[in-house]
Amino acid sequence: MITKQKGTYDIYGDNAKKRQYVNEILATLCEKYNYTYIETPVFESSELFHRGVGEATDMVQKETYDFKDRGDRNLTLRPEGTAGVVRLFIENKLYGNMSEPVKVFYNEKMYRYERPQTGRNREFTQWGFECFGSNDVLSDAECISLAYNAYKLLGLENITIKLNSLGDNESRLKYKEELVNYFKPHINELCEDCKNRLEKNPLRILDCKVDGDSEIIKNAPKTIDYLNKESSERFAKLQELLDLMDINYEIDTMLVRGLDYYNHTVFEVVLDNSYALGGGGRYNGLVETLGGPSIPAVGFAMGYDRTILAMEENNINIPINDSIDVYLLYVSESEKETAAYLAQDLRLNGYIVENDLLNRSLKAQFKSVDRYNSKYLIILNDEKLTNNEITIKDNKTKEEETIDINNLIDYLNMHM
Ligand code: AMP
Repeated sequence: MITKQKGTYDIYGDNAKKRQYVNEILATLCEKYNYTYIETPVFESSELFHRGVGEATDMVQKETYDFKDRGDRNLTLRPEGTAGVVRLFIENKLYGNMSEPVKVFYNEKMYRYERPQTGRNREFTQWGFECFGSNDVLSDAECISLAYNAYKLLGLENITIKLNSLGDNESRLKYKEELVNYFKPHINELCEDCKNRLEKNPLRILDCKVDGDSEIIKNAPKTIDYLNKESSERFAKLQELLDLMDINYEIDTMLVRGLDYYNHTVFEVVLDNSYALGGGGRYNGLVETLGGPSIPAVGFAMGYDRTILAMEENNINIPINDSIDVYLLYVSESEKETAAYLAQDLRLNGYIVENDLLNRSLKAQFKSVDRYNSKYLIILNDEKLTNNEITIKDNKTKEEETIDINNLIDYLNMHM
C-alpha cells in the first residue's frame, strides 16, 4: 500500500465538515473587514523566499521544500503566505491605484520540512490576510482586531495577543548593535545556530528553540528600550487603540518573530498563554525588497490546523450537519424518472436530497431514510403519479400527506 507522506494528512468525514464550517466563519469575517479573497501558486521561484523571508532564516536554511523542475528552474513550495502575496501585489500592479488600501485574504496550504508533532506538520494550512498601503497605526490595530475576532468567533475565549514593537529602521539598527555587544562575550554559551545568527541577524537569537529559555537570552536587552521617540509614541498609540477595542494583549519584549521582514508591530496569538495559534506584524520594507515601490503593509497568518486542534481540545462544539432534507423512494422505472427530475428541482431550490443509486428494494430504501437521517421522505407511486400526486412524510412526527407534485417546493418552503 502506498501511504501518505510524513507530516501530511488526509481530510475527510467530520474533520472536513469542521473545516468547512471554520472556513465559512473566517471568510465572512474577512469580508466584514472588506478584505477580498485571493489565491497564489503553491510553488514559486526559490529566490522569492530567499529574498522575501530572508536568506539567513531557519525557514529558508532548513525548512523549505526546494526542487528543480524539468526546465531546470529552482522552485520552492511556499513555506508561508506573505512573500507570494507580495509578489502577486507587485506583479499585478495592484499598487497602480492606491487611493484606498489593498486588503486581501487567503486560505492556503504551506510546506515546511519540520519534525512532525502535534500541531506541527510538513503540510499545513494558514489563513492569512494582508493590508497594503497604510502606515497608520490604525491599520495595525485593525489587523490585530481581525485576528483577535477570528479566534473569538470560533469560540476560543482564552486568547491573548502577545505584542511587541521592533521600531523603525533606526531603532532596529540601534537595538541590533546593542544585542551584538551583549551576546559577544557569551558567544560560546550559545548553540551553533545562534553563533551564526550573531552576525547575520542577532534578533533571531531571541526566539531560538534551543537557547530560548537560557538566562543569557532572558536578560538580553529589550527592543522597547531602544525605540526612538516616534516609534515609541506609535507603540503607545497602538496600545491605546487596542484598549479602546477591548482587545486582550500583553507586551512580550522577547517577541521578535522568525522572519526578516518585520518592523514596528509584531504580534502573536496564544491560547491560555501556551502555544502560538498565529502571528503577524508590520512589514514596511518587503514590497520594495521584492522589487515593488515603497509601500507599507501589515498582515497576519493563522495556524489553521492548530486553531482547529485548539477548538477540539477546548471542547468547542462545531455544528456538523448529519441529516438530509428529503429522501425520494421509488420502485418502478417511471417512478425512478420522476425521482430524477424531482431531485434536480429540489436541489436547485436549496434542499439536500438523496435517492437510491443502487437499484434496491423499497425496504432497503426505507433503511437509507434512517441512515441519512432524512427530515422528509417522499414515496413515489405510479398510481398516484397519474393524478400528479405524491405522498410526503415527516420522518420525525410520522405524519404523512398526499399533495400535488407541483406544490412540493411550496410545501417544503412552508414546513422547513
Ligand atoms: P509563522 O508563519 O511561522 O509565523 O506561523 C504562523 C502560524 O502558523 C503559527 O503560529 C502556527 O500556528 C502555524 N504554523 C507554523 N508552522 C506550522 C507547522 N509546521 N504546522 C502547523 N502549523 C504551523
